[in-house]
Amino acid sequence: MEFVHQLHATGDTIAAIATPPGEGAVAIIRLSGKDALSIAEKVLSEKIKSYPSHTAHLGKMKTLEGEIIDEVLIIAMHSPRSYTGEDIVEIQCHGGTLLAKRALTAVLSAGARPAAAGEFTLRAFLNGKLDLAQAEAVQNLICAKNELALKAANDHLEGALSKRVKNFQISLTDLGAVLEAWVDFPEEGLEFMSFEELLLSLEKIEAQMQKLLSTFEEGKMMHEGFSLCLIGTPNVGKSSLMNLLLGKERAIVTDIPGTTRDFLEEDFQFADLHFRLIDTAGLRESSEEIEQEGIRRSKIAMERADLILLVLDASRDLNSEESALLQGLYQHKMLIVWNKIDLIPHSPLPHLENLPQCYVSAKEGLGIEELKNALRRLIWKKGAPSKEELVIASLRHKKALEDALLNVRRVASGLKEKISPEYLTIDLKKALSDLGTIIGTNVTEDILSAIFSKFCVGK
Ligand code: GDP
Repeated sequence: MEFVHQLHATGDTIAAIATPPGEGAVAIIRLSGKDALSIAEKVLSEKIKSYPSHTAHLGKMKTLEGEIIDEVLIIAMHSPRSYTGEDIVEIQCHGGTLLAKRALTAVLSAGARPAAAGEFTLRAFLNGKLDLAQAEAVQNLICAKNELALKAANDHLEGALSKRVKNFQISLTDLGAVLEAWVDFPEEGLEFMSFEELLLSLEKIEAQMQKLLSTFEEGKMMHEGFSLCLIGTPNVGKSSLMNLLLGKERAIVTDIPGTTRDFLEEDFQFADLHFRLIDTAGLRESSEEIEQEGIRRSKIAMERADLILLVLDASRDLNSEESALLQGLYQHKMLIVWNKIDLIPHSPLPHLENLPQCYVSAKEGLGIEELKNALRRLIWKKGAPSKEELVIASLRHKKALEDALLNVRRVASGLKEKISPEYLTIDLKKALSDLGTIIGTNVTEDILSAIFSKFCVGK
């Protein structure tokens, strides 16, 4: 990863627009590095070096040639009390795209280098302001799409995951010391701890790691949202239901069978959940090429979706395709939605054993709360996650924990099999190093590069 080397070698000053592109009230140009203050001074009317850290000052920003760019608000944050740990200058200008670009160009021409994606946070990590799990949480915080994901990211940023990982490391290091003593004085056997105590401690750590690992699916869902797929034969009211859920006219509603031919995908939120709703083509077999393609995609969507809403028309009997679907592969993730209940007296509908069902009228907007509650029950099968529980959502963290767990298990089983303690300490050290990758104590530049390249520029 080139820019890490550059960073250490030159300690140069980086700059970027830290606000999203487009027009807005303000745009922020951020500089970080040992020359941030002097570079900023070259394009500002104010002698900011002499101002106290963390104070805001109104001034003019200008090009190196002296042409005024904008009236700006300047905040300097002196090292080490800043996000990156270096001197930082933040310049707030008016939020025009062109204006922000001119302001950035000015600081670049005064000696700053354009920041790479995530480089400010990378510097914060390299300067010890954040560990790697916390740095990753910064991006998750920015991307959080629902309250639960936001809470999880905040926990990680505050160091809850890092603390848990460090606790695992401390416990394992203590056990490692017992094993090391055994390596040094094998004839004395296990000192300080009985064999049973050692095994018990290892199993306790194993169980705690396993528990944290088991939160991954939940964490991933929180973070990425749940994909919902609407399936049903033409004209049952899929598009109408989709519009209702999204609260706007998105899919084309018509009474000509087979009009929804492609995926329509939209995000929507309710309660504290985030969904991606996929509407698909009707499932009717058709000779028409486009519709065949639609049918193929429906099958892919069903395969991929976390949950399938099978929409059925409550005003008529099931047809053969619907019966086939009900007996198909995806029952375990299916919710049956009986639509058009406005057309019939609410008499009992065909009973489908063991499948969750709800009754709605997309046209009249009836039963939507019931539908939402049914979805919630299906999603949080084990109950909604408690706000106190620490969850992991990153595949990288999951993989590291799995590796660590495997090595801890090796130590435990090796102990039972009376394997020489030298070998056990090797596995124990591997477990420690696996855990270290989560907080970034022993990560390669490739890993850093992969993590920070997903960040936005300016963060
Ligand atoms: P799709 O082909 O499954 O996407 O179905 P549409 O949403 O396009 O709806 C087909 C027809 O059924 C349209 O004329 C809708 O107005 C009508 N429709 C949809 N939902 C309901 C409902 O709950 N009650 C009644 N009475 N008609 C509905």
